Amino acid sequence: MKKLILLLVFITISNLHEAQKHVLPKLGYEYGAYEPFIDSQTMRVHHLKHHQGYVNKLNRALKGTKKEKESLNSILMNISMYNTAVRNNSGGHYNHSLFWEILNPKPNKQASEDLMRGISKSYESIGKLKEKMNLEAAKRFGSGWVWLILQANGELKITSTANQDNPLMDINKDRGIPIIAIDVWEHAYYLKYQNKRNDYLGAIWNLIDWGIVSDNYIKAFSSPIFQELKTQNWPELNIFRNDLSHIYYSAESENYEPLKTMTKELMMKAIYLKNSEIPKDLRSDEYGYHVILNKIEKQSIELHDLVLEHSSNKTLLKKLNTMHETFHQVQGVCKHHDEHYHEFKNK
Ligand code: MN
Repeated sequence: MKKLILLLVFITISNLHEAQKHVLPKLGYEYGAYEPFIDSQTMRVHHLKHHQGYVNKLNRALKGTKKEKESLNSILMNISMYNTAVRNNSGGHYNHSLFWEILNPKPNKQASEDLMRGISKSYESIGKLKEKMNLEAAKRFGSGWVWLILQANGELKITSTANQDNPLMDINKDRGIPIIAIDVWEHAYYLKYQNKRNDYLGAIWNLIDWGIVSDNYIKAFSSPIFQELKTQNWPELNIFRNDLSHIYYSAESENYEPLKTMTKELMMKAIYLKNSEIPKDLRSDEYGYHVILNKIEKQSIELHDLVLEHSSNKTLLKKLNTMHETFHQVQGVCKHHDEHYHEFKNK
């Protein structure tokens, strides 16, 4: 008996150890519940085979790399730094997760007042919005997605992407936080609708829950990603960010060369950043950029002084970490959103 318990404990511990970073979300309803608009078989295969496949391949593509623990949002926001396998499968995972989330067999048909205001500003009415999204979906050649996104300027926009790309990815011109996702891959509708994509598009709106979409809209405004997207048009910040990331990630993999040779440049860029014009959307005191940028300038000077004094790696890393943490307050500088704070192994 004791042996059996030990064995069970052992199995549990090894399973915990093997726990996958990215997991398939459960659906809120049974596969058959989405009928007649989406048939049970399509839902099952789409969720259990296609989506699970993206999750598995994503975990596999990241396994053993430095980015293994990175959040999904962070990966997508910096997708240009990853290979095609990560691009396809992180997109596949995110896109389907959002798609399942907004589908409801008994949907709330009422959008919130806030969302209605946003929609009427850009698209007049929900009817017009659906029409435009369907048109965009019909135009999408081959496989892809159609989106309603919240852009950095606070306005809604309809966009579409090919394959498993999405509007969070830094490879797109039209970036924003997805509020609605519609899958227009054939695997989403072929069993029931064959080549009649338009029939599927007509039917899918019967499942879209406007209560959930309204929640997505409000949540997007307070998301760190929204702030990060606003920093896209701040060149001085991007220049500084690139250097800091390079130094930080090199040091993380125990290459201290950039830390010892680039601090003068980093300091110059911090000064340049402090004196730059803060983008209009980010000027308000709630963000406190003036204070943060002053701190970063001061810390970059201190870091450079430590390098000039030939300080130990440990001392340099400590200062770099402090600066990196300060920079966390400027969203988007660090490529982490829902979890972070890697600590250096001080040697
Ligand atoms: Mn799909």
